[in-house]
Formats: sequence, structure tokens, C-alpha cells
Amino acid sequence: MRFRQRAIVAVASVAMPATCAAANGAAGWIGFGILGWVVALGLWWAHRRAAALQQHLASASDTRLSEALHGSGLGLWSWNLGTRRVSWSSAERIAGSAGDHSMAEQHWRSQVVHRDDRAQVERALADHVEGRAPHYEAVYRARSADGSWVWIRAVGKLVERDANGRPLRITGTFRGIDRERQEAERQRIAEAVVEHMLEGVSITDTDFRFESVNPAFERVTGYSASELIGQPASMLNSLQHPPSVYVEMRRKLAERGSWSGELWQKQRSGADFLAQLQVSCVRNDLGQVSHYVAVMSDITDRKRAEHRLRFLAHYDTLTGLPNRAFVRQRLRQLLEGGPDRRVALLFLDLDRFKHINDSLGHKAGDELLRQAAKRLRLVVGDLDRVGRLGGDEFTALLIDVNQRDEIEHVAAEILDSFSGPLLVMGHEVAISPSIGIAVYPDDGRSLDELLQHADAAMYQAKAQGRNTYRFYSHSLAEDAHERTRLESALRRALDRNELSLVYQPKLSLRSGRISGVEALMRWHSGELGEISPARFIPIAEETGLIVAFGEWALRQSLSQFQRWQEQGLPVLRIAVNVSQVQMARPDFVDLVKHLIESHQLPAGVLEIELTESVLMADPDRAGKAVADLRALGVRVSIDDFGTGYSSLSYLRGLAIDAVKIDKSFVDGIENNVDDEVLTSTIVLMAHSLGLAVVAEGVESERQLTFLRGENCDEIQGYWLAKPMDPELCRSFIQSFEPPKRLVLPGARG
Ligand code: C2E
Ligand code: MG
Ligand code: MG
Repeated sequence: MRFRQRAIVAVASVAMPATCAAANGAAGWIGFGILGWVVALGLWWAHRRAAALQQHLASASDTRLSEALHGSGLGLWSWNLGTRRVSWSSAERIAGSAGDHSMAEQHWRSQVVHRDDRAQVERALADHVEGRAPHYEAVYRARSADGSWVWIRAVGKLVERDANGRPLRITGTFRGIDRERQEAERQRIAEAVVEHMLEGVSITDTDFRFESVNPAFERVTGYSASELIGQPASMLNSLQHPPSVYVEMRRKLAERGSWSGELWQKQRSGADFLAQLQVSCVRNDLGQVSHYVAVMSDITDRKRAEHRLRFLAHYDTLTGLPNRAFVRQRLRQLLEGGPDRRVALLFLDLDRFKHINDSLGHKAGDELLRQAAKRLRLVVGDLDRVGRLGGDEFTALLIDVNQRDEIEHVAAEILDSFSGPLLVMGHEVAISPSIGIAVYPDDGRSLDELLQHADAAMYQAKAQGRNTYRFYSHSLAEDAHERTRLESALRRALDRNELSLVYQPKLSLRSGRISGVEALMRWHSGELGEISPARFIPIAEETGLIVAFGEWALRQSLSQFQRWQEQGLPVLRIAVNVSQVQMARPDFVDLVKHLIESHQLPAGVLEIELTESVLMADPDRAGKAVADLRALGVRVSIDDFGTGYSSLSYLRGLAIDAVKIDKSFVDGIENNVDDEVLTSTIVLMAHSLGLAVVAEGVESERQLTFLRGENCDEIQGYWLAKPMDPELCRSFIQSFEPPKRLVLPGARG
């Protein structure tokens, strides 16, 4: 406790600016030391010289004694139980001027002793006189000369008895203790403060061994005071820092007299916590360091919260990539480096992400974004160089790239990293990015300009058929503007009756007859003129307009088929293209069923053309939809086969009817051996799986001859006929005469 009081005075001082706290503590301590000593001396003196004292007091003639008392701040008193008088001599102006006083006991009691303390004084006196206490000791308020009350402590002893042994005289010393009481009060408050402080406080000796700790310190460290006291403070050292950190901290403490900072410490449980520490030295009256006092708080949670906040402010929580704000900040910093430093901004947008999100659900969409982020990061490497702007938009920054092919190389690598399907919640999902590239300073001098231009280039990449990259060029800016115009015009297309269907016949190489037609959409915009499906279909898909457009196309083509039948056209198949967005609609199969029924069509008339990406986006769901369509008697074929990621063996699991070899392979026939090999392989394998093969985009007789040689089932293309309006198509079919030499041997009807 003794130490504790000292320490607490010191601790209370730590909160004050960094002075060493010894002064107050030492003053209090020295005060007590002197007091004790003087009291002892006084008692001894009083005892030895009692008789003489009485005499001196009575006459008040010993000036030397008066001077000595004056110097020590002590007063002498004497209580004569015989004469019932109290006499005293004091430097304090208690009840009159300083000097010697004597008054009747009852006056003393009523005038000098505070009313509330009288009983206590009496009790102390009785206890001593009646032998229950070896000394008389009382603390009470006495009236000073100016009428105010001063606290005094009086001690004394019975020094004389009469002939019958009755107590006759008690004598002793007293002193004003107002200052001490204030000091003690201060200490009590300081102690209470430390006891209740939320910060842990510890006092160590100069060897850094604990001497005292407060309850908060016990709480924070998990150790009880008794486990800590006597132990080295290093027992709390954490392995999070090398030991040199603690050594360095002590060195600085010795050098400057204080140290503050953050330090990892270890709790009793072994768990580390981050401590905010302020350590100060306590010096003795000779100016030597006698103790260290440390005030500590556990800021682990706060730090974590700070980190979390910083993370939230700078990173995207879904993917862990830098967010839009951080990307902008980073880019701005880079641009501040000046135009000598070339920075390429790659702006990525995942192709058809929206459809996957709609069809597989948001959870899968999130997972897909996470995985896409991972792939991107893997290619780019540095986390600082990638970012997610939001949605399915990502960025990559390439710094100090001087050659265009360096940028192209990275862009190609990114595309390549997406070439394999992603595994999303058990589904294999194919997704590709479209990348727009803008280079600082050539393509934009400001942050926003650069972002805008990379974005425009990205749209260009999408328009070029996706899964590709495009550098920004000035004409792109107009394209972006153009797209906006296109989009708003497209929104009104259906209401304004601007859509129509044309029909392109397919020829069966087995029968030599027209086996069916494919319905292809056309848009003639009142404002913009004829727009090709390659341009407006992707926009319709992205905006979701394709759902209404697709339903319209299905209705329209089935009605057309009905009309043709009424006009006596032979029964053939009518193929309609269906995009992923439509397939993702849970009611799609129901819609088809309803349309077939309401048009009272014979089974097997309707054919649905799906691209591989439609199937791969959500294989399970697509597989189910395909099976349901087949159950309705609808034929299903895979359009543009060979351009996606699906393999024939994958198609085996799907109940489809035919594959349509993409025009790009057909184009290569006669001049590209690879394409020829591929085409014949596709035909062979498809047949082995029981699938029919249709070649699309056949433009020449040589292509046709090759395909016929490879046993291809059907062809479609300009060689046979371009897409035509219904009337033209009808007369074409009705008047069609197949050239005999082209029909496959063993042709069936
Ligand atoms: P697709 O389904 O693969 O259609 C074949 C495309 O090739 C058509 O282009 C057709 O006009 C064209 N084509 C046919 N034979 C030849 C040829 O010998 N040479 C050349 N150069 N081209 C030929 P189109 O009509 O521009 O349609 C483009 C794509 O737009 C279609 O490709 C299809 O994916 C999509 N599309 C068209 N109509 C619809 C529709 O109603 N719904 C959906 N979802 N997509 C549609
Ligand atoms: Mg098609
Ligand atoms: Mg096609």
C-alpha cells in the first residue's frame, strides 16, 4: 500500500505533460517522514522534560524552546486535570495570537474544539487516561485566530499523577494538518482514478519488474496482480515483434524519459493484443530513475475497425479488389507522375454477365465475379493494378508500357485466362471479357477522359463480337454516342412496328429438298435506317428487350408458318433463334408450349437455335430446358457450333438434334486445311452422336461439294438463297428444283 500511494501520485502525474512525476510524490512522502520523526522526537522530549516544560509553559519564559517549536511547526500543549486548565504554545494562531495560551478546560472545549469533534477528543482522552490506549491521539478542528477552523493532530501522554495515583497532567504536541489532509485527499482521489481507469496502469522498477498494477491492467492482460508482481514486464512480449523492438523501446525510454507508441503484447491466454502504451520514468529526489509507469490500452479492436474501415473505403468487399474510388485514386497518382510515364488502362466488362446473373441467381453471379477477379489478378499480378469498378466492370493498370504489343500481350493473356470455364457452385460456366484499352497520355490526359475512352473502346470490343480487346481510337467516341442513340431507338422498335422477319431456306443434301427455313430478325429504324442484327441483337440482349423481341419472333414465325400452310406450302421446319436471356426465363418452355398449341402446329415443326454460350452459361438449367422442349416435340440445334467452348462429348448429354457448323469454318473450306479438317471432324463426331449437321453460310458450289463429300446433312447460305421476306420465300420454295448431282447418294424423301 505504501508503494501504491507513491505510485499513484506518480501515475496521476503521467497524465500531465511529460515531466517526471517525482516532485509531488516525494513531497508527500518526505512530509510523512518528517512528521513521523518529529512526532517521535516530540513525545520523547515531552516525556523527558515534562516537569520542566510545565514550568516553562507557565512562565512562558524559555524563548529558545519557543523558537525551536516555532521552527518545527509544532505546538506544545498541556492539560492539567487538577486545575482543569489547558495550556498551549504554538506558532499557529489557534484561538488567539501565536504564542502561549492558557484557558479553562470548559472554555477550551467550547471555544477551541469544533463541536462535531468534541466527543471524539473526549473519547481519546478517556481511553488514554483509563489505560485503554497507550497514547492520547486526536485529530480535530480547532478554531484559529481569524475564526476559521484548522485541522490539527494532537498527541500526548499522561506524565504526572497525584499522590493517590490519579491522573494529573497530560502533555504533548500538536500540529496543523490541513496541508497533509489535502494531500491525503488528493492521493485518495488519485488512487480512485487509477482504480477506475479504463487504461491499464503498471509500475515497474528499474529492472522492469512489476511492482503494482491497476484492475484494468489485470483485465487487459488476463493476469491477476499477484501473478504479475515481481515478474519481468517482458513476460507480456509478443512474438509479433522481434525482441529488438522491445530493446529499442527501452533504449528510447532511457534516452528521453518517456516512450509512447503501439506495441503487440501477449495476454495470459496466449492471444496477442495491440497495446497503445505510454511509458514514463519516475525519478527520486536525487533525480535518478526509480520506477517506470506505463499507461496502456488495448486497441486491437479499434485497429481492426480502422482496418476494416480503410478496407471498406478502398476495396470491394465481394472480390477483395480495389474499388472504384481506390482505382481512381491510384490512377490519379499515376497521372500525376507526368506524361513521361505511359499508363495503359484496361477496362474489362464480362460478356453476357447479366444473363448469367439472371439465370443462375445472384449468389452464383457473385461467385462468378469473385472468380473472374481471381483470374484477372493472377494475370496482372499486383493487387494494386487491378480493380472492380462495380457490376461486372473491372480494370487493370499497366505502368511504364512503351510498346503497344506489351499491352496487347497482357490483354491477350487476360482473354486466354478466361478461355476455360469457371466452376460456379458446381456449374461450369463459360464467360469471356471484352476489353477496352486507353493509354495515357495519348488517349486522354485526365483521369475521366482516360476512363471514358477505355469504356468506349470496351463497347467497341463488344460490338466486334466480344471476347476480344480494342484500343481506343478517336472515332470510338462517336461510336459510344451512336450506341446510345441506337439503344433509345431500339426501345421503341416493337411499338413502332419496325421489326420484321426474313426467312432463309435450308437444303437437305439427303433429299435434295428444302427442309426448312430460319427466321431472322430485321430492324428498319425510322430514324436510323436498316440496322443489322449483329448490331442490335447484342443491345437487345443487354437491355433485356430481347425477351419481348424473341416472343414476338416466335409468334410471328409460327403465324407465318400457318399462313404458308394455308397457301399450300409443303410442311417444313421453321427455325427460330433464341438467346440466352430468353432461355433463362423460367416460363420460356411454357411460352413455347402455349404458342405451339395456340397455332395448332404439327409436332416437329418448330426448331430452336441456341448458341453454345446459351448452353454453357448454365448447363444444368439449359439441359433441363432442352429436354422439356424436346418433350414438346420441338427440335433443338446448336448454332454457330465450333466458336464456343462446348465439346461434342458435352453435347452427348444434351438431347439435341443438330449442330450448325459456324460460317467461319465453312469460309475456310477450299483454302484452309485446318478448317476442312475441323469441319469433317465435326461431321464425323456429330454423326457418331446421332446428331444431324447443318453447314451455314455456304456461298460457293465448291464449299457445297466438299460438305456433300463429308456427309453433311443440310446446308444453308447465299449459294442456296439469301434471307427473304415471306412472299419471296414462299415462291422460292414452291419453285425450287434441286440440281440432281448435289443430292447425296441414298437420299430419302
Ligand atoms: P445466325 O443465327 O447464325 O444466322 C445466320 C446469319 O448468317 C444471318 O445473319 C444470315 O443472314 C447470315 N448468312 C446466312 N447465309 C449466309 C451466307 O452465305 N453468307 C453470309 N455472309 N452470311 C450468311 P443475320 O440475319 O445478320 O443474323 C445475325 C445473327 O443475329 C444470327 O446469326 C443470330 O444469331 C442473330 N439473330 C437474328 N435473328 C434473331 C432472332 O430473331 N433472335 C435472336 N435471338 N437472334 C437473332
Ligand atoms: Mg441461327
Ligand atoms: Mg449461325
